[in-house]
Amino acid sequence: MKEKYVAHVLAVPYPSQGHICPMLQFCKCLVSRGVKASFAITNYISNTLNPKFDDECLRFVTISDGYDEGGFMEAKSVSDYLARLESVGSLALGDAIEQDVDSPNPITCVVYDAFLPWGLNVAKKYGLKGAVFFTQACGVNYVYYLIHHGKLSMPVNGPWVDVPGLPQLGVDDLPSFVGAPESYLAYLQLVLNQNSNVDAADYVLVNTVYELEDKVVDAMSNECPLLTIGPTIPSYYLDKQRPWDKTYGLDLFHLDPSPTTNWLSTKPPRSVIYVSFGSMACLPKDQMQELALSLKESAYNFLWVVRACEEAKLPKEFVYDTSSKGLIVRWAPQLEVLASEAIGCFLTHCGWNSTLEALVMSVPMVGMPQWTDQPLDAKLIEDVWKVGIRVKVNENGLVEREEIGRCIVSVMEGETRSELVENAKKWKGLVKKAICQGGSSDRNIGKFINNISNSLGGECSENRT
Ligand code: UDP
Repeated sequence: MKEKYVAHVLAVPYPSQGHICPMLQFCKCLVSRGVKASFAITNYISNTLNPKFDDECLRFVTISDGYDEGGFMEAKSVSDYLARLESVGSLALGDAIEQDVDSPNPITCVVYDAFLPWGLNVAKKYGLKGAVFFTQACGVNYVYYLIHHGKLSMPVNGPWVDVPGLPQLGVDDLPSFVGAPESYLAYLQLVLNQNSNVDAADYVLVNTVYELEDKVVDAMSNECPLLTIGPTIPSYYLDKQRPWDKTYGLDLFHLDPSPTTNWLSTKPPRSVIYVSFGSMACLPKDQMQELALSLKESAYNFLWVVRACEEAKLPKEFVYDTSSKGLIVRWAPQLEVLASEAIGCFLTHCGWNSTLEALVMSVPMVGMPQWTDQPLDAKLIEDVWKVGIRVKVNENGLVEREEIGRCIVSVMEGETRSELVENAKKWKGLVKKAICQGGSSDRNIGKFINNISNSLGGECSENRT
């Protein structure tokens, strides 16, 4: 049978929301340019959500992570989960590749999350190309790269750290696992291990935009050539090449979005603070209380995502007391929310996807980073792009309600707001340009496809649909 696709990638995300979204979106982009994509999800995710695509070019394949009944929550510890994911997942991936060998379009390249460096071993075992996919900011990846290669020592002795291509960093600006290595040893090992075989990967893909991180991309590229391919955000919000592409397509926490969107539609333009800490961060109870009181005292409406596991930390009667101006939901359709006229600012944990989404929608931010890569993202937001301000933490590690209130007011009104909004518009323009035809990310995606194409002599048909 004649080959129909220029290549076939097997995409292997780390199975969490913030890692699935960008890789799935990248696959959609490849598919629109003539590549077939198989997207690996765990049996647990498949059994609980049963996701489907109506597209023969993009399909889900299921693999076991060794925890088919409960996923990550079933594991005794982070290290147990990661070890089993590697041992069981490697075999399952191999099976998926073998099953496809005799099909008209067998898998030609494995695109694996940088958190799963063993994806490269599987690719090489079957003679395939291996592309590592970094879901976090290039600056964050570079800090881990330098530490892994012994070029930056840990624990980092402040007060300032110089990383080529980044502004001077305080210890509080560094990824938390580096600033406080003892805090999450298993995660520290995970993020450093991303670099264990990065130099052997055929391609290094990074979900960022060259123009956002040009200096650090250049610095890292000198040591480890990479392709910036972001932002991986549904096309409807970017180049509109696929106007129907409005959501990522796999929501681990899915809820009916209409109560949120209906509520937002009743609110005046720029009157709502959108508050979300993403899919993983857990706030200490006293921090939840300070934030709640700050929102209650503020003059603005608010939409706050409080995941079910966090609800018990809210002050008693808070939902009732604030019902005239606030809505609390367990999960929100974040892209639609950020695109809404009603949103005036985004109080965010500065997860990398949320950061890119806010940039694309030009929503100014109050940054309240919690852990992992978020502090460095907050540094970029405040000091490099100047599209938001970061809250100050007191000597006990708490952000007090007055401080949250001060930051919200600065971002919602006055001169600071005008400056942030101006900057946000500028970055939105640059980010959109990067992904549109001829832009930096668009060209890099084209290069990647050309390189992995096997059927057209290395030339890609670049079907833009
Ligand atoms: N998200 C969402 N609804 C919510 C909260 C988050 O759809 O109520 C999405 C958000 O749009 C983003 C992802 O979940 O794409 C979170 O990724 P991020 O990197 O910001 O943070 P993480 O969850 O990995 O900490």
